Parts: sequence; C-alpha cells; structure tokens
Amino acid sequence: MEENKEKNMQNKVIIVTGGSRGIGAAIVRILANEGHQVVLNYNQSKELAENIKQELKQEGKEIDIFKADVSKREEVKELIKFVIEKYRKIDVLINNAGIAQEKLFTQITDEDWNTMIQMNLNSVFYCTQEVVPYMITNQKGSIINISSIWGVTGGSCEVHYSVAKAGIDGMTKALAKELGPSNIRVNSIAPGAINTDMNKNVTQEEWEELKQEIPLESIGKTIDIAKCVKWLVEDEYTTGQIISVNGGWYI
Ligand code: NAP
Repeated sequence: MEENKEKNMQNKVIIVTGGSRGIGAAIVRILANEGHQVVLNYNQSKELAENIKQELKQEGKEIDIFKADVSKREEVKELIKFVIEKYRKIDVLINNAGIAQEKLFTQITDEDWNTMIQMNLNSVFYCTQEVVPYMITNQKGSIINISSIWGVTGGSCEVHYSVAKAGIDGMTKALAKELGPSNIRVNSIAPGAINTDMNKNVTQEEWEELKQEIPLESIGKTIDIAKCVKWLVEDEYTTGQIISVNGGWYI
C-alpha cells in the first residue's frame, strides 16, 4: 500500500503531442507502461488514437486522448485547459508532432515555407508557452522536443524542415538557460532515420543504401527514440542538450 502510494507520487502527468502514430505512439506506450499519466494529443488520426487507448486499457493502463491541431494557438489552449482541469499540473511536455516535405529549395513556395514553420516550430512555441507558467508555479518540469538530425546537419531538399528543426534546437538552448533557475529542464532529441509513415516514400533500395552510411548499419525504430525520452523523463541533471539518436549517422 505504502509502496503503491510512493509509486503514484512519482508518476508524472505527461503530454505527448502527435501521439497517434510513429514516434509519438511509441513514446505514449513506453511512458504509460512506466505508470505515468499520459495525455495523447492527436489531430487527424482519431481512430489510431482510440486504438492505442483501448490497447493500453486492456493492459490495465488508462490514458487520455485529446484532439488538437497544435499549430493553432486556440486549440493548444484547449488541450492545456483539459489537462490542468483534470490533473492540476503538467510535469512533462513532449513536443513531438511534426510534418515533413521534400522539395528543391527553388520550388518551396511561401505557403510551403509558412506551413512548415507553423506546424513544426510555431506549434512548439505555442505548446511550450501555454505549459511553462504551470511548471514555474510548481518550480519543476521537463520539456522534451523532438527535433531532427537535419536541424543539426542540414538536409538537402528539406531546407524549410531543417530551419524549423534548427529553430527548435535554438529554443531548447535559450529556454534551458531561462528556465533552469525554475528547475525546468529543456532538451531536444534529434532522431536520425526512423522507420515511420514520415518516410513512407523511401524505397527498400534506398533504406539499404542508407544503412551503409550508418555506423550501426541499421535504420532506427520508434522504440529507440521512446527509450531516450523515458530516460530524459527520469533524469534530473540534463538540460539544454540536443541528444542525437541516430546510430552514429552523424557524429
Ligand atoms: P509520423 O509517423 O508522420 O507522425 C506524425 C505525428 O504528428 C502524427 O501522430 C500526427 O497526428 C502528428 N501531427 C502532425 N501535425 C500535427 C498537428 N498539427 N497537430 C497535432 N498533431 C500533429 O512522423 P514521425 O516519424 O513519428 O515523426 C515524429 C516527430 O519526429 C516529428 O517531429 C518528426 O519531424 C521527427 N523526426 C522524425 C524522423 C523520422 O525519420 N521519422 C527523423 C527525425 C525527426 P495525426 O495523424 O493525428 O494528425
């Protein structure tokens, strides 16, 4: 009984944006399995979100699912309001939702550019800004941003994506300095190539070629990123870091 009480006190309220598929879904599963109170945010994939909720329920874990387009400030406000009204606090925010687009730089339109920045960078600004006041009140918190190897090295034919992800990493470092005295940690995880819907256009031949460039000679799995998130959720002395999880693709 005492043990359970202690464990419950250690359990954290965690929001995972874009938790319906791919890396986000793996993060939701690993954290729910750790006993944390997870709120899965989705936008379009309602059925997938419901399936994850159901699957976890069968294993005895309750999660919340909440629809919000995180590129819209008003919808982010609704998401945070829901979590605060239900749990009174937010311990961890995982900014995972994102989109990708491959285009030659000369063919990127204003609309492509603005959509990319809105979806991948402004969304992180909105979610983080709406959550941080509650973390400051509690004098503790952790923000984990899923950026990308391309934010660090630059990705050919993905200039707008690379800019958005580099922006996230800049935000991570600056905010870590600003929020450190409030006991709030801010870190980025920069995945390499992970086999998800985001890469559904990559052919088998291209994956094989890619493996030759990666020292660990394999493509990343969603669980590889989720394990790093789990570690960062537990950690208490890492902040302002861009953690590469990429099989050594970029060192
Ligand atoms: P994915 O399989 O395409 O899944 C994207 C997720 O983001 C979905 O759950 C989607 O939700 C959600 N999402 C997109 N726009 C959203 C919005 N406006 N509001 C709320 N949710 C939204 O992609 P992934 O590979 O798992 O990528 C996850 C993160 O990792 C992204 O930030 C991506 O840039 C980053 N990353 C991925 C790779 C890779 O190789 N896969 C490499 C580096 C970085 P709905 O379907 O419900 O709309």
